[in-house]
Amino acid sequence: MSEAWGELKARLEEIRDLGSAQKLFEWDQAVLLPEKGGRARAKAGATLEGVAHARLTDPEVGVLLGELEGDDSLPDDQKANVRITRREYDRATKVPPALVKEMAELQGISYQTWTKAKPKNDFKMMQPYLERLVELKKQEADAIGWEGERYDALIDVFEPDMTTAEVEKMFAELVDGLTPLAQSILDAAGEKPEFLTAPYEEDKQMAFSHWLCEQIGFDTKGGRLDQSPHPFTIQIGAGDVRQTTRTEPNTVLDSIFATLHETGHALYEQGLPEELEGLPAGTVSSLGLHESQSRMWENQVGRSRPFTEFMLPHLKDKFPKNLGSVSFEEFHRGANYPARTLIRVHADEVTYNLHVALRFELELAMFRGDLAVADLPGAWNDQMESFLGIRPETDSDGVLQDMHWSIGALGYFPTYTLGTLYSAAFFDKAEAELGSLDDDLKKGNGSRLLGWLDENVFRHAYLRAPKEIAEDIIGGPITAGPFLEYLRTKYSEIYDTEF
Ligand code: ZN
Repeated sequence: MSEAWGELKARLEEIRDLGSAQKLFEWDQAVLLPEKGGRARAKAGATLEGVAHARLTDPEVGVLLGELEGDDSLPDDQKANVRITRREYDRATKVPPALVKEMAELQGISYQTWTKAKPKNDFKMMQPYLERLVELKKQEADAIGWEGERYDALIDVFEPDMTTAEVEKMFAELVDGLTPLAQSILDAAGEKPEFLTAPYEEDKQMAFSHWLCEQIGFDTKGGRLDQSPHPFTIQIGAGDVRQTTRTEPNTVLDSIFATLHETGHALYEQGLPEELEGLPAGTVSSLGLHESQSRMWENQVGRSRPFTEFMLPHLKDKFPKNLGSVSFEEFHRGANYPARTLIRVHADEVTYNLHVALRFELELAMFRGDLAVADLPGAWNDQMESFLGIRPETDSDGVLQDMHWSIGALGYFPTYTLGTLYSAAFFDKAEAELGSLDDDLKKGNGSRLLGWLDENVFRHAYLRAPKEIAEDIIGGPITAGPFLEYLRTKYSEIYDTEF
């Protein structure tokens, strides 16, 4: 081991351990922390973050990187660690401290304002903060640098190497195919099945989720499942992957599909190669790839005919009153029931990505200076009407519904759709190589699929760029084709109509 690598590795491990403590804070805040503890915890978290930032931006890290970048004899995993650390180091050192400070303060106050503006339906309260955030994001992008256009620098944070041009092309193709397809599927959907809205005991929902995630491969010796209002998954450290799910008193499917979604994220984290020791090259490289896993287990697996057939008898055991007389066909239709909704987080598999496309189009227009922040609410409502044929009556149900923009998370939304498109393309490829997975899924057995994912996704961790990992599987750049075909086939069968 070269001396410079040994020194950099020790520093990276220290940064990782500080991050581990921060993540435990984050999990604790969402799951356990008493309300009154929030303020002190936020301060403790900021202190930890400051220490980690100082460790990363230490000029000695820059010296070590310079030395190692010239060393061709390094093994591939060390080269990957050097490459990723260079990205992080440049991002952290190129942005002037005054800008970092103003951004952090603005995000805090803007988020607080959003929590008040949304229930009051008052976009004007948010407008000055959003205007300033967009301005600061532009300055940040310029400080970091970009080649094609400024927005590239924003996407790159969440989706390394992906460009605006690529994402724009992907959405254009998707919107073109999905808008008419969604309209015709929605028109065919009919009445909402009654069993979807009935009282379901929440303790039994949690018990079912615990059973379900283990069934498909979640290792409870290396992780936990808990409950939180907004489900999420976080790796605290090696052997400690925590996921949460939610329960609702008057429906059961939300909880099941949230659990399958988060289990997808968790299986990815648990499948990362142990030998990379949680260093940068041993982590998940992109949000799009992460989301490809959650959506695959939620949708391609969870909402499939064989898997819903597997789940139903177990659910009937737990909820005989609600589901005892529900037939398999009714249940499968219910699990895939699409509806026009104004709210993204309640959207189904058919319409969800139109909600995302709307956000992408608007934030890009805003960032390019083609749309003034003041005109955002109207543009939102117009676009919602053109995509789904419904129009929000309030900004609370429109432009104010998500917290993302209030904290300056621009460039984040596209990764949701990228993940959806990946999930369909990857699943196709898995079945092309393994043969149909129907018989496995009918038994609730995910092991062959997991083995394939391990080989094609997990073991590459961040040794390679996410786009390369994906393109190797798909055989070229991602397109909307496999996803549109998947929806068409599935819903043609469910509604016995050719879509
Ligand atoms: Zn997710």
